[in-house]
Amino acid sequence: MIQVTKPFLPPKEEVYKLFDGIWESEWLTNDGPLVNALESSLKDYLNIQKLIFVNNGTTALQIAIKALALKGEIITTPFSFVATSSSIVWGNCKPVFVDICSNSFNLNPDLIEDAITSETSAILATHVFGYPCNIDAIEQIATKYGLKVIYDAAHCFGSLYKNKSVFSYGDISITSFHATKLFHTVEGGALFCHSSSLLNKVSYMRNFGFEGAHSFAEIGINGKNSEFHAAMGLVNLNYIDSILKKRKLLCLYYRKKLSNIAIKFQEQVADSEPNYCYMPIVLEDEEMTLNVIEALESNDIFPRRYFYPSLNTVPIFNSLQNCPVSESISSRIICLPLYHTLEMEDVDLITNIILAALKLKALSYC
Ligand SMILES: *Cc1c(COP(=O)(O)O)cnc(C)c1O
Repeated sequence: MIQVTKPFLPPKEEVYKLFDGIWESEWLTNDGPLVNALESSLKDYLNIQKLIFVNNGTTALQIAIKALALKGEIITTPFSFVATSSSIVWGNCKPVFVDICSNSFNLNPDLIEDAITSETSAILATHVFGYPCNIDAIEQIATKYGLKVIYDAAHCFGSLYKNKSVFSYGDISITSFHATKLFHTVEGGALFCHSSSLLNKVSYMRNFGFEGAHSFAEIGINGKNSEFHAAMGLVNLNYIDSILKKRKLLCLYYRKKLSNIAIKFQEQVADSEPNYCYMPIVLEDEEMTLNVIEALESNDIFPRRYFYPSLNTVPIFNSLQNCPVSESISSRIICLPLYHTLEMEDVDLITNIILAALKLKALSYC
């Protein structure tokens, strides 16, 4: 059986060694030494000085929206994980869905201005599947209209824009270190910003708003993460370069094997470098997509319809916006299996099944 993803597991002994330290210090959580060590290693690795480690990516999004005091409408993408839009509603704001580009699958900057009203306070864009948005274009619009920008960079560990980590952009970027992400701490996430005052604010918000033992600077929540999660992150960070390298090899091999007119791949925008964290393909229509999924599943291979459905069509968001490109891509996209221990032979097997399913379909037209 081949699943769409598998979490990366480092050698146990390396994690246990750090656990020994936890038993010695008896310090389990609350800004402990391993959390601090992970934050400082991440600063070095990513070359970003202002970041905090939190308990998951969704908390990071919720803190970001509160810390920027956003109100009213937030322009966002319908082609993302549900947490992107639900965090907006959770923060008492209204998501306004703007359609995506058919090549990058990211928020289409050309459509943003038409969606701006007097109520708009921010743009919340996702760099889907580790492919950076057209950040320059989004930044320009935000500056022109005085809007804040938050990037949901949950997929983006290792992605670059203009040769810098994509986490360096926006008023705030957030990421997820969930077990299924390319770099993980089992559960976890991080928030990145530029100003010291904003960093102070989000740090208070992460810890109930505590300023001193008996005083509070902000209304906060519990966004802290534990020494155990930090230990996993510290060990995994030693493997990140080999993880990134292996993913890229697998993705390029998938693309080579699947170069076929009936299959479309995601494309990167200028000055950006993706991290190859997912392997999405887009088929010609939904019927073909379902055929390919069925062919794979009957061989015990489980891809995933991701992201499906397009969030503007999800009833909990009460949205009246049409996003034809996002709806179309959502109905035709499949993420193929991709994880560190996947072998080239597995890619051969998976791609041969897909090509056979496509050929069968083409034959039935004759
Ligand atoms: C995984 C993910 C999140 C949520 O991160 P968690 O750490 O699971 O809370 C948010 N946005 C996107 C695009 C994601 O893929």
